Amino acid sequence: MDDSPCKLLFLEPVFVEKIWGGRKLETEFGYSIPDGPIGECWAISAHPHGDCRVAEGPYAGLTLSALWRDHRELFGNAPGDRFPLLVKILDADDALSVQVHPDDAYAAEHEDGSLGKRECWYVLDADEGAHIIVGQHARNRAEFLQMVREGNWENLLNEIPVHTGDFFAVEPGTVHAILAGTLILETQQSSDVTYRVYDFDRVDASGKSRDLHIEQSADVVDYAASAPMSGELAAPEVDGITHLLHNDSFDVLRVRMHDEAPIEIEQRWDYLCVSVVAGSGSLKLDGGETRSLAKGDHFIALSGAGALLFSGEMELICSYVERSSTCSGSK
Ligand code: ZN
Repeated sequence: MDDSPCKLLFLEPVFVEKIWGGRKLETEFGYSIPDGPIGECWAISAHPHGDCRVAEGPYAGLTLSALWRDHRELFGNAPGDRFPLLVKILDADDALSVQVHPDDAYAAEHEDGSLGKRECWYVLDADEGAHIIVGQHARNRAEFLQMVREGNWENLLNEIPVHTGDFFAVEPGTVHAILAGTLILETQQSSDVTYRVYDFDRVDASGKSRDLHIEQSADVVDYAASAPMSGELAAPEVDGITHLLHNDSFDVLRVRMHDEAPIEIEQRWDYLCVSVVAGSGSLKLDGGETRSLAKGDHFIALSGAGALLFSGEMELICSYVERSSTCSGSK
């Protein structure tokens, strides 16, 4: 098996303690996590703040960033100076801060060449009555700053109910906060630039509050964007596949298998990020090689993998950078 080209890259998640985190990554996903409030599982990441290591196979122990740098052929020689995607699971036992992210242009200029952060959320689980904040109601910078100064959160922030199975696209410039009682699979650009607008006046054990970034937030908020009314899925499910998101950064699919009917995912990508978010089953590769999968597995199907045939009773969230857009990128 070692002399065949590497087709699947299984990764070891990186766990991050957060003041708003809980224990669901252990109780719901069965990961063995450090003590304390663990808010984030960086499941597929080559970002320097959490660079996943390969779990098995010929590249075991190497980081995803090193593989991207030194073995770009595994990723179909896709262009780019960094692996562009980051997939996380977020366990919000308490609210995350109200925040906003810049776009690529603003981040490149003000954040040392970082990517901007476009993110999206698939809701794995939401408590009865849970809410979420996506969008805001100020019409311009002055109005935004005034409402922030006055602490007029109720009128500024677009808080809406959240349910299991919802999906939210969070474009750069969208004010947002994941609130308590929500477990989310987040697909985002590989960036860690966050401007905090409000942190509910929280302090940590030593009485310290987290930094706010009001000026930068006011700079990047998209005042023209309209705030969503709900996270109900807009896209249709066709043969088990729901195309949740398409934009020029990445695409996201939900794949649901029912009654053992297999689902094939065509290779329109150079590499495909896959997270098993429910159930179990198997993946058959072009050459006939089969691999069993279970909830909590995260892997990258590499360019040599060919068409992927999934079967079982599983739910997957997959993401990729569309091949044509990678080609039209830098040369
Ligand atoms: Zn965010």
